[in-house]
Amino acid sequence: MAEFTMELNDDQKQVRDWIHGFAAEVIRPAAAEWDEREETPWPVIQEAAKVGIYSLDFYAQQFFDPTGLGIPVAMEELFWGDAGIALSIVGTGLAAIGVVANGTEEQIGTWIPQMYGTPDDVKVAAFCSSEPDAGSDVGSMRTRAVYDQAKDEWVLNGTKTWATNGGIANVHIVVAVVDPELGTKGHASFIVPPNTPGLSQGQKFKKHGIRASHTAEVVLEDVRVPGSCLLGGKEKLDERLARAHERARAGGGGERVKNAAMATFEASRPAVGAMAVGTARAAYEVALDYAKTRTQFGRPIIDNQGVAFQLADMRTSIDAARLLVWRASWMAVAGKPFTSAEGSMSKLFASEVAKKVTAQAVQILGGNGFTREYPVERMHRDSAIYTIFEGTSEIQRLVIARAISDMPIR
Ligand SMILES: Cc1cc2nc3c(=O)[nH]c(=O)nc-3n(C[C@H](O)[C@H](O)[C@H](O)COP(=O)(O)OP(=O)(O)OC[C@H]3O[C@@H](n4cnc5c(N)ncnc54)[C@H](O)[C@@H]3O)c2cc1C
Repeated sequence: MAEFTMELNDDQKQVRDWIHGFAAEVIRPAAAEWDEREETPWPVIQEAAKVGIYSLDFYAQQFFDPTGLGIPVAMEELFWGDAGIALSIVGTGLAAIGVVANGTEEQIGTWIPQMYGTPDDVKVAAFCSSEPDAGSDVGSMRTRAVYDQAKDEWVLNGTKTWATNGGIANVHIVVAVVDPELGTKGHASFIVPPNTPGLSQGQKFKKHGIRASHTAEVVLEDVRVPGSCLLGGKEKLDERLARAHERARAGGGGERVKNAAMATFEASRPAVGAMAVGTARAAYEVALDYAKTRTQFGRPIIDNQGVAFQLADMRTSIDAARLLVWRASWMAVAGKPFTSAEGSMSKLFASEVAKKVTAQAVQILGGNGFTREYPVERMHRDSAIYTIFEGTSEIQRLVIARAISDMPIR
């Protein structure tokens, strides 16, 4: 009979404790400063690189954990430290995964090291998909990539927005339209190497939360990249486009492609859920501690059911969110079909929990919760991102509703 356990194994506990130590000793103490500065915390990224937390190897090791829990456990601890700094540390991973998932071996070998740099000279990378008129609606993308056969170069034009590390990245991964007739199936991703003429940073956004993470527009004006910078290569792209045209001519048949794309999102969304669990847990811990020590009416405020029950609900919802995240992460490595969009469920639930729990924490700390003297104010602002990026809560509900009903819900 198969053994069932929800306990982390010794290796996982060791990794969790190691990352927690870094989050507690390096990230958390730096959080308020970089939130105020609204700048990329380069010295903290460098520290992370020195201890081995900022590298592809680190993520690859967590990714290949056969239980699926490596990534969610790592994300929860890093984001427990601070969401803005943690996003600065893991943001490069988003671009790196794009290369690992779709690139050739040569592309992986050439570009991943340039995305991370070295511990003495750290670099970051950016993944640029969203545009001013194409957020949830990726099909409205306008950035165009045109092939110049004579020079074996691609020419990119357009404006990307909301790009984490956009403009300050050493390597940008840019998603662009190569075949407008095919909608999202006519998109391809390009590597834009360091110092490529025509790529510039547009507006840098002043944000509500995760302010230690750099978010900006990326403007592409006649950006020329070598043919070798098309992720996966031209032959693969041509085959994919030909298949898509064939299916379109045959009147549909896009189901397999749609399912593959959905499986990718379902597998990556739990990682964002784990980030939200980390922020929620951090705020809950501060609130629990405060409620036990703050005295009003001659007794600790936790002595009131009105406060204690809130903490009980906060803890219950955080644990429930983690279980959904772990279930979806396990399903991804076990190759289980996400028939009810369980990955989206985990991201939806955990991000809504983070928003609610951090608001409750502010309330439990009273006036102190409303000031920057205590971290829950920042955690509350940070938590708002989870219901927005990597697909808004509404988009997650849409995906889940379609999966459970098999109807084209709009
Ligand atoms: C801090 C930050 C970092 C980011 N990092 C990156 C990055 O690195 N790379 C990148 O490419 N993008 C990034 N993004 C972009 C992010 O993924 C988008 O903001 C997100 O997908 C939502 O798109 P939008 O902002 O255009 O909102 P919109 O799509 O305009 O949505 C606005 C509102 O309408 C709702 N809505 C839209 N369509 C529907 C529908 N069909 N049914 C119901 N409700 C709907 C949405 O849920 C939302 O509430 C980042 C964003 C932020 C804020």
